[in-house]
Amino acid sequence: QPQIVWLRRDLRLADQAAFHAAARLGPVIPVYILDDETPAERRMGGASRWYLHQALSALEIELDHHELRLILRRGRADEVLGALVEETGAAGVHALRHYEPWWREAEERLAGKVDLTLHDGLYLLPPGSVVTGGGTPFKIFTPFMRALFAEIGEEEPLPVPDFSRPAKWPKSDRLEDLALLPTAPDWAEGMRQAWTAGSAAAQERFDSFLEVIDDYREDRELPSIDGSSRLSPQLHFGEVSPRQLWAQVAHNPGRGAGFFRAELAWRDYAANLVAQFPRYTEEPYRPGYDHRLWRDPLTDEEAAADLKAWQQGRTGYPIVDAGMRQLWQTGWMHNRVRMIAASFLVKHLLIDWRHGEEWFWDTLVDADHASNGTNWQWVSGTGVDSNMFVRIMAPLSQSEKFDAGDYIRHYVPELASLADPYVHDPEEAGCRPAAYPRKVIGHREARERALAAYRAISR
Ligand code: FAD
Repeated sequence: QPQIVWLRRDLRLADQAAFHAAARLGPVIPVYILDDETPAERRMGGASRWYLHQALSALEIELDHHELRLILRRGRADEVLGALVEETGAAGVHALRHYEPWWREAEERLAGKVDLTLHDGLYLLPPGSVVTGGGTPFKIFTPFMRALFAEIGEEEPLPVPDFSRPAKWPKSDRLEDLALLPTAPDWAEGMRQAWTAGSAAAQERFDSFLEVIDDYREDRELPSIDGSSRLSPQLHFGEVSPRQLWAQVAHNPGRGAGFFRAELAWRDYAANLVAQFPRYTEEPYRPGYDHRLWRDPLTDEEAAADLKAWQQGRTGYPIVDAGMRQLWQTGWMHNRVRMIAASFLVKHLLIDWRHGEEWFWDTLVDADHASNGTNWQWVSGTGVDSNMFVRIMAPLSQSEKFDAGDYIRHYVPELASLADPYVHDPEEAGCRPAAYPRKVIGHREARERALAAYRAISR
């Protein structure tokens, strides 16, 4: 009897415990269901859909090498899977356990209908499993990371299993039928240039990153340099597992490798926070950060215009604008610039982080429920950690410090001819080209406005 492997954000064959277990039991039927109903308002954004199309296409090719087909369907996952089990006579369904609240609910619903076996493998260790000596989950990153590192062990990632095929394949939609790509306008040209999906491409990308990993600690902070792995979409969609990356750097004693492992731990940490506090990505963890603090783009026209300027990369702050344009063109933004741009929205523009989180959700190819929400809470100072709202990042000195000149010139063509000291703040230097907007608000004024608003809610 065949076994169904239900795929979601785990689109790979190696180190994939669901494939591994299913292949040992019988012929394997891999299934991907495009389900917009279960996540409801959390359904995938446009950039993620574009990436998913590429990822499914690469997976189809990989499966074909093993004479397997990818069965594509649309609809509510638990219903579609229930029907597929009947149609194929499958003995069971195997899947990796997911932690988004809507997937947890769907897994529960499905377990009542079919013989569902859930396996671990989305994270270095299962969220919720790394706990303090007293058995409680960690809230703060550094002790969490230490405990994770102590527990992780040296287990080797699983190989690609030997597969057998079902006598008859169920019908499948064509990938094009899922309509994941933009039609008119086609905004994906920059993304096509930036990304190659698939497990093989992920490994190639990692191999080239390993050549520069010794400089990772310093270079990952510099947006003009390609100094980080750029594997976040591949990790999000599971084309590569964090365990596979961990194993490849485990014996590297260099500082770069240590810092890279810490970044993988941030990814686990984000999922742990959401496992602990399921509403973490929806509302501020700290009480008091309510509507009195924020300017509301839904009711305040000026705030709406500011939000738009931020989204379009027209704030008059070159580093913020370069980041927002990189995001729009390529579906990705450098981590340091994500922090600067996010902080700018929340503190300079006094707009609720959830508006930014939503925009990132729609425009990032690596949009990840846990990572996006926890990072926005962190930047805003509303989360579990001690990053404070009153610590306000100065975008212009950040731009100089992290040497963003080439980065700005690349993504903000209006400023392409400006030399280094001027490109960070052309308005102040008196050389702002007419085509480039004035600052939506001065830094000092924004800072004072944010501090005053904060004082008002703290009273
Ligand atoms: P590398 O430096 O090579 O790090 C390796 C991997 O570690 C990354 O691919 C990623 O999976 C993980 N990682 C690194 N930093 C973080 C972090 N701070 N939190 C969680 N995981 C991390 N990352 C996402 O994957 N999805 C998101 O939706 C997302 N939203 C963010 C929103 C904001 C406001 C900020 C400040 C950060 C966000 N990040 C998000 C984290 C981080 O910016 C990206 O993971 C990183 O830029 C990806 O680049 P890289 O693959 O080259 O990272």
